[in-house]
Amino acid sequence: MKKDDCIFCKIANGEIGSDTVYEDDMFRVILDLNPGTKGHMLILPKEHYDDIYELPDEVSGRLMGLARKLACAARKGLSADGVNLVQNNGEAAGQTVKHFHMHVIPRYADGSEPIVTWTPHDSDPAEQKELAKSLSDSME
Ligand code: 5GP
Ligand code: ZN
Repeated sequence: MKKDDCIFCKIANGEIGSDTVYEDDMFRVILDLNPGTKGHMLILPKEHYDDIYELPDEVSGRLMGLARKLACAARKGLSADGVNLVQNNGEAAGQTVKHFHMHVIPRYADGSEPIVTWTPHDSDPAEQKELAKSLSDSME
């Protein structure tokens, strides 16, 4: 389903123009309007899914193959030295556009500050066991 008030639905389906890198029946890949680095891309499914929780296996199954091809293109075409794949879900995780998308961010040796950072904490073995169990028990 497309959503009338969704900017990425309009871009993915060509109603609004974009700098398109790639398009097939399921995805459009565009350049980010405010890129983190040169060649920062967004993979947009043409159907509307708010986030990863809604993404069908058929779509997620093809997504990583496409991300790999784009990573290779960034290395070959832009001489990128690395690539980050970033995918935000929910406001708490920094998602600003509520249409599932994956960032493919080429990285260059001369600007290699981390894009995704976290503070490593000590872990408690008993708590880790509990966490692993709750997660495992929650899988559908
Ligand atoms: P999020 O924070 O939701 O993971 O990322 C949203 C991304 O979409 C941001 O990097 C932002 O620059 C990009 N963006 C937002 N609106 C537009 C737009 O209209 N066109 C393009 N090409 N990128 C957009
Ligand atoms: Zn949408």
